[in-house]
Parts: sequence; structure tokens; C-alpha cells
Amino acid sequence: MDRKCFSHLGVTWVTSADPLSRMSDSLLSRRHFLGTAAAAAAPWASSSLAAETGQPFKFVFLTDPHVQPEKGAVQGVKQCFAKVNALEQRPQFVITGGDLIMDALEMGSDRVRLQWQLWDECMKTLEVPAYHTIGNHDVCGWSPKALVKPGEAEYGKKLFADRYGQGRAYQSFDHGGWHFIILDSIGLEKETGDYMGWIDEDQLAWLQADLEKTGKKTPIILVTHIPFYSVWHQVLLGPKVNIGAKALVNNVHDFRKVLSAYNIRLVLSGHGHISERIQFDQVTYLQGGAVCGLWWKGPVHGNPEGFVEVTCHPDGRFEDRYVSYGWKAQA
Ligand SMILES: [Zn+2]
Repeated sequence: MDRKCFSHLGVTWVTSADPLSRMSDSLLSRRHFLGTAAAAAAPWASSSLAAETGQPFKFVFLTDPHVQPEKGAVQGVKQCFAKVNALEQRPQFVITGGDLIMDALEMGSDRVRLQWQLWDECMKTLEVPAYHTIGNHDVCGWSPKALVKPGEAEYGKKLFADRYGQGRAYQSFDHGGWHFIILDSIGLEKETGDYMGWIDEDQLAWLQADLEKTGKKTPIILVTHIPFYSVWHQVLLGPKVNIGAKALVNNVHDFRKVLSAYNIRLVLSGHGHISERIQFDQVTYLQGGAVCGLWWKGPVHGNPEGFVEVTCHPDGRFEDRYVSYGWKAQA
């Protein structure tokens, strides 16, 4: 959960009913994987090679690291990256799920820049390429309590977009016969100056064009920091809970029909720090736990600090498993 979002609900942590290891389709045995691992092990193998040869490939989805100077967070993220680097079959790439730094919404510009420096220091230890998703805490000054105001250099999404998006905070790419779309799900609620879950009009126009270019057969993975759907609020707080505007993408229903015409297989999200999966029609909606667990204070209801390893097959099947990197929260 996002502590800024849900503190009014009186919830400080949540349940994850998910086991640590999950198979989405359970179509391939572990033996099959081991048999193909050697051929697919080259970490920098090109995507076209994987597609042409029909080999599966792996990537890691790693969300909500919330790096900060305190609580050993830098050491924790580096330990997480060391685990990624040492996976039995090295992933082709990492996708981060947002909230890379602890907070830019309410912090002053010096603190924001310090957190990005620490994130850069961590990233130097990651030995595979990475694509980055923007989270609400990566946006500077979008809070009623903001210290950074409009017009200041750090305000808004600029620091993130300049680093990772060539000036914008969403992108797409192809790999191994799959199409990946990384969305910017952070909108601004103009009346309050607070953030909310929202995909803006410019981005939706881009998304529609991107989908048309991709075609209806190519398997697609969408990544969004703020989830499209989620159930943990109802599980813990009851079916009538009012989750507010920050928990989910508020306009997802407006573009649901556009998405449903395409071969969306998986929607990855962060934000909730929980491990949760929803299957509806052909789409799996997966919240990927959190690298920081409960903001570096320990596991989230038994789900350890970790990340998701995803194996994609050229025919559109995939498997995922949650991987702990063995972090022990500092007292
Ligand atoms: Zn978040």
C-alpha cells in the first residue's frame, strides 16, 4: 500500500495470500526449462534471436525500492541487484515498477537530488539493462504538503523523464516476440494538488497508436505503477471500502475496451507493496510485492522483500515467481 494513500484507512500493512512461487500457465515443467536454459543463457542475446529460435527469455520486474539514506536501504537495493545478477539464468533485462526513491512528493529539492544520487549508486551494481516506470513518489511536489513548487527545476516528472524517458515518462519496446508498454500512471488532482491514478489523454493517444502498430497477435505486457485493479482493500477492509483516487488508475474503464482488442497477457504493477494476482479473461494482473517490503521495516504480512522473475515464451505463455533476496530489516 502507499502510506500516503491509505493512512486514512488506518492500515499499516496488508496480507499477501500468494505463495512465493507461482506458475501462470503451468504449461512447461521445470525439467523443460532446465533443458532450454543453456541455449537461452547468453545475457545479451538479441530479442530477434530469441523470437526466431523460439526460445523463452526471462526478465525481472522489480518494484518499489524506495531508496533513501536510512535503514540500510542502499545496501538493501544493492543486495537485491546482486541477487538479480546471480540468478541461475540471467534475465535479459529488468523493468522497475516505480517509487524508485523514498519520496519526492513532499521532500525539498536537496533531499530529492540526494535520493536520486543514491539510486544511481545502486544502479551501477546492476549488470543487466533496465527500463524504468515512474511511481508517485518519483514525482516532485505533487502534494498539498509539497516543499518544491511549480516553476522550480525539480518540480513534477522532469527529473525522472530526463533520466529515463527522453523527456517523457512512458515508452514501449519489443523483445523476443513480445511487446512491452511502460505507462505513466501518475496524474495530478488539480483541486487538491495531490497525485491520483490516471493515464492522461496524450498518453492514451500514444497508447492507441502503439497498439495499432503492434497488431492484435503479438503478446503484450503492460507495466503501470498504480494498479488497474486490486482486491486487497476489500479483503482487509470490507467490500464497501472507499479506496480513494490514489489506489487505482481511475480512468482504466475508459480505455478497457481498447486494450481488450489486443493480446494483453500480463499487467504488472507496484504501489501496494503486496504480492497479489487477479486473473480475468486472458489477462493476469500482478502486483509485484516490493524491494523495500514495508518501507525497509520488514516483510509485508509475511511476504519478504523481493522481486518477480518472469519467463516469456514466443507463443504468448509466461510463468512468474516471486524471489526473496534475503533482506533482514535493520532495527
Ligand atoms: Zn506508489
